[in-house]
Amino acid sequence: MKQIVIAIDGHSSCGKSTFAKSIAKQLGYIFIDTGAMYRAITLYAIKNNMFVNGELNTPLLEQSLSQVSVKFNFDTAEQKSIVMLNGNNVESEIRGIEVSSYVSVVSQNANVREYLVDLQQKMGKEKGIVMDGRDIGTTVFPDAELKIFMTASVEVRAERRYLELTQKGDSVSLEEIKANIEDRDFQDENRKISPLRKAEDAIELDNSNMTVAQQMEWINTKIGAILNS
Ligand code: C5P
Repeated sequence: MKQIVIAIDGHSSCGKSTFAKSIAKQLGYIFIDTGAMYRAITLYAIKNNMFVNGELNTPLLEQSLSQVSVKFNFDTAEQKSIVMLNGNNVESEIRGIEVSSYVSVVSQNANVREYLVDLQQKMGKEKGIVMDGRDIGTTVFPDAELKIFMTASVEVRAERRYLELTQKGDSVSLEEIKANIEDRDFQDENRKISPLRKAEDAIELDNSNMTVAQQMEWINTKIGAILNS
């Protein structure tokens, strides 16, 4: 069977990873959550005191990049990919509100982007991959066979994220999450390097009122058309 690259971009917290993971599972493809990679580097910067009064010490982070290893390990018991920062499982830590509030600053950095885009391109060299992020269809894999641009209303996204975090026991308010999502949308769309854009050849999916099953049905017709062409 033909192997393709599926690029999924879109706004924060609209379910890109859940969707990408389901597609990858169904096709037996590799799934890569690139947001987790930017989050892991952000956690590294926080842990190494690179934020002082909320300001990132950019030269220090840039110098340190060669010492940062970001990898994915497949956890067979949990049946999911775990992001590893310098050999440590940071899957849970990177999802908290602290990392969320600093990640847009880290992801604006040209050196960070160059470092991660190179890693991502190597991961997808053999195709058979579903990658989600903000610049996959525009920068990482501009030749991807299938590009999806996902979005949903801010209210729906904030509520989904709120449920996810509070079920995990995090104490955050819905307002705090909504403000973070709006801020990240703004930062992602307005940064100089690889801003969040719908690639010209991407298909838009607004999932505000769709279940995961409905989204899978929708994507399967697109995948089927490409694989059978
Ligand atoms: O997808 P997620 O919300 O986990 O991504 C966290 C942050 O990482 C985004 O808000 C964005 O700033 C950054 N990011 C990016 N490019 C990607 C993936 C994520 O800039 N390809």
